[in-house]
Amino acid sequence: NENMESAKQSIRDVLDFPKKGIVFKDITTLLKEHKHLATVADHIYDYYKDKGITKVVGLESRGFILGGLFAYKLDAGFVPIRKPGKLPYGVFSEKYTLEYGFDEIQIHKDALNNEDIVLLHDDLLATGGTAAASIDLINNFNVQETYVNFLIELDFLNGRDRLPQNHEIYSLFHF
Ligand code: IMP
Repeated sequence: NENMESAKQSIRDVLDFPKKGIVFKDITTLLKEHKHLATVADHIYDYYKDKGITKVVGLESRGFILGGLFAYKLDAGFVPIRKPGKLPYGVFSEKYTLEYGFDEIQIHKDALNNEDIVLLHDDLLATGGTAAASIDLINNFNVQETYVNFLIELDFLNGRDRLPQNHEIYSLFHF
């Protein structure tokens, strides 16, 4: 609809960030307008409201912004996935490969339980490495169900193909 199209238009392309040749999708221009923030929050609420979501799991750090908002709207709790050395309690860890080298993400060992219905959220799906590692982290808990959501999906990178096929993946905006 019109509001979703206008929210999509508000996402800014920044050339050569963080490196030359990369076109970075900047969501700060969407977030700063209450109208767009409300449009995406209401849309997510409508989409997931009947799925019984108990926990929204958000990825550091842009996944925290809308993740917290969605958790509140859906009457769910919020769980952060973070880079190493940030979470204070015992953690599960996953390493994943990047273009050059590897990265690692962590979740608190007591963050979820086997009764949870999870909505995993991040701002953007690119190659899918980060999301695949996040799903591996969530798999430590034997949760009832994991839904996967992105604000933005970069279709030409086919990140979706790298994710396990047994989870429903939904992205609000495709580029
Ligand atoms: P992937 O692991 O290649 O799918 O990369 C996804 C991760 O990189 C997400 O956590 C995003 O926040 C971040 N990312 C990659 N490209 C962009 C972009 O253009 N804008 C914002 N975040 C990006």
